Amino acid sequence: MNEKYLVVNCGSSSLKFSLYEMPNEAVIAKGYIEKIGLDDSFWTISYNGEKITGKKKLDNHKEAVNVMTSELVNNNIIKNMNEIKGIGHRVLHGGEIYSDSVIIDDKVLNDIINMTNLGPLHHPGEIDGIRAMIECLPKTKQVAVFDTAFHQTMPKVSYIYAVPYEWYTKYKVRKYGFHGTSHKYITNKMQKLFNKNDVNLIICHVGSGASVTCVKNGKSYDTSMGLTPLDGLVMGTRSGRIDPSIIKFISDESGKSLDEITTDLNKNSGLKGICGKNDFRDVVALINEGNEQAKLAYDIFMDAIIKHIAEYYFELDGRVDAIVFTAGILENNTLIRENIINKLSGPINTYINKVANDNIGYGHDLKEGIITTESSKVPVYVIPTDEEVMIVRDCYRLVKEANNN
Ligand code: ADP
Repeated sequence: MNEKYLVVNCGSSSLKFSLYEMPNEAVIAKGYIEKIGLDDSFWTISYNGEKITGKKKLDNHKEAVNVMTSELVNNNIIKNMNEIKGIGHRVLHGGEIYSDSVIIDDKVLNDIINMTNLGPLHHPGEIDGIRAMIECLPKTKQVAVFDTAFHQTMPKVSYIYAVPYEWYTKYKVRKYGFHGTSHKYITNKMQKLFNKNDVNLIICHVGSGASVTCVKNGKSYDTSMGLTPLDGLVMGTRSGRIDPSIIKFISDESGKSLDEITTDLNKNSGLKGICGKNDFRDVVALINEGNEQAKLAYDIFMDAIIKHIAEYYFELDGRVDAIVFTAGILENNTLIRENIINKLSGPINTYINKVANDNIGYGHDLKEGIITTESSKVPVYVIPTDEEVMIVRDCYRLVKEANNN
């Protein structure tokens, strides 16, 4: 029998949701509520090809949940909220405690609250969203799906930093990695495609946030993000990997506080720091106008991706089943895909298939496929990611398991 499940993804001032029919994984409705806590909160829900919109001051996530439920019921998308059999929440940090998704009980909620120090930008909104959903549907099972969980298979050699060891034992400072739900989705898809579990992959998830993961024998072996999602690749507004001494240096030189510098590294760096624009389409538009800062930003951004691919190619001893490009930028921008592959062509004997590459992405019928020539040593695939379907799958699995016990 088909049942309805809800996927909820809360930010500090937003709530995104998707209503699924399971087990067939059909999306019934999708919505987002924005500017929660501000005067001009608004929402948009897509259902049956139509858009339902509204605006009203929403003080907190509880009020946003009330809007979501009343819109779902008033527009006859569901009869009542009891139709919803489970709710899956995206949660940033599972620390070392969670290597899989889990049904939320008091202990799990407390663990998530206690890990706010590891996810200070994300956890407060996520906790508000979980609490609001529990208040709204106290009897319905809720599941936490952690962005870090997939990377818990990393060995110590990948996750321990070369800093005083008690930073790890006392404060849990280590590499955790993020985008795990996306990297797991791609890994599962490639396992099916290659019909084997022990795939070796280099997965490049490049959207406004960006990370590369080295998958060895079907498991995350290393990944570019670290204790927080700031490390690794250059991103829309995040610096990625930098010399840690810069922080004290800038503090001494500019008088900025640690908090201000952390904000600069998270919100005013990356593409935006170099050329003023963080949306990749805007950067490309500036390049087309001849803007040299934008070209510099593009080159630095691309260089970071290539360096991580090279690092993981060595880690996998060249035995790579596929390199996979996913998320907003690499799913859509043909030029950066071509530029990256051209740079890889000499060292790893992998060559762009220009026709195939130019046919995949925004404005094209094809959304996925191989974009390298048949004779290439390592095929490069474009595969759209789907983190929400992973969340609903885990939610469905755990709710069914719990109901059978
Ligand atoms: P996130 O989920 O982290 O917000 P996405 O995976 O949605 O990020 O990616 C957002 C990025 O993808 C933005 O920089 C945006 O400019 C870029 N992007 C989206 N569509 C296109 C496109 N058609 N061409 C180039 N870049 C695109």
